[in-house]
Amino acid sequence: MIPFIDLKREYSEIKDEINSAIQKVLERGWFILGKELEKLEHEFSKYVGTKFGIGVNSGSDALYLAVKALGIGRGDEVITVSHTFISTADAIVRNGAKPVFVDIDPETYTIDTTLIEKKITERTKAIIPVHLYGHPADMDPIMEIAEKYGLFVIEDASQAHGAKYKGKKVGSIGHIACFSFYPTKNLGAYGDAGMIVTDDEDIANKLKMLRNYGSYKKYHHDVIGINSRLDEIQASILRVKLKYLDKWNERRRKIAKLYNELLEGSEIIIPIEKEWAKHVYHLYVIRCKERDKLQQYLFKNGIQTQIHYPIPIHKQGTYLNIVNEYLPATEKICNEILSLPIHPWLNEDEIEKICSLIKVKIT
Ligand SMILES: *Cc1c(COP(=O)(O)O)cnc(C)c1O
Repeated sequence: MIPFIDLKREYSEIKDEINSAIQKVLERGWFILGKELEKLEHEFSKYVGTKFGIGVNSGSDALYLAVKALGIGRGDEVITVSHTFISTADAIVRNGAKPVFVDIDPETYTIDTTLIEKKITERTKAIIPVHLYGHPADMDPIMEIAEKYGLFVIEDASQAHGAKYKGKKVGSIGHIACFSFYPTKNLGAYGDAGMIVTDDEDIANKLKMLRNYGSYKKYHHDVIGINSRLDEIQASILRVKLKYLDKWNERRRKIAKLYNELLEGSEIIIPIEKEWAKHVYHLYVIRCKERDKLQQYLFKNGIQTQIHYPIPIHKQGTYLNIVNEYLPATEKICNEILSLPIHPWLNEDEIEKICSLIKVKIT
């Protein structure tokens, strides 16, 4: 069996370092808002190229708090995509604002920047582009539009740790950026965790209050916040893994290159990397006509695949009451996409096996 992801292989590569990092935290006896988190916030924001990092409990909370810190709420609109993980849109709705969905560019699967301006109204406050699958959204036109209309840009970089747009790391381009450290992400904790990065000191200070019960000093509260912190054990694990992120991203890129070579000449549509992009292949997503049949065939032959995502957000139960949009590219590709196994420990034999099975099925 070739699993979709295999975190046991990751752990066995860094076992001693992880164990001793966790042990240090246990012996120190300080578990929330301590030294490990402070160091991780510094190291990760430096890695991305921003001044401040604010550790939170998850990528979902990072997005929720980012929207909240900008004062966006009831009566406001936020532009984003429907072809993403549910949390991107939930962050808007949880703040009482309305998500406005823009279709995607079917080449990069990220927001189609030519369609954004049409969706801007007097109520629009922000744009949330998503660097989906590890490929950056086209940020220059997004930042130009944002400047023209006075909007904030929140990057959802949950799938793109280390990806670059025109030489700059994603997460350093918008006003705020959100990362998830869910275990399967390119940089993942061994539990839930997330981080918000920004260059804006006022926003950073506000976020530090919001993640800690709205408290600016112990037992003094100015705003209603939540409890959303990145704990010391997870921070210590992430500090170990951050050192390997670039190396592991390079392995992902090599795997994608081999997949591309082996799938060439078939009817499969392979992922592209724009000339301005450095893709970090959080996911390796192909497209084909009879997707469900291919997925079943691979499963019968011991290959686990997934679909990211089978139902666009604007077609999900609760959202049907909130929005009514027709997004042709989004609605078409969700029936064609298939995510093949990809992680830094996938070996050549496994990739060859997967590709030869696909080629037998689809010529
Ligand atoms: C994983 C993910 C999130 C949510 O992160 P969690 O840490 O699981 O809450 C949000 N947006 C995108 C694009 C993601 O891939």
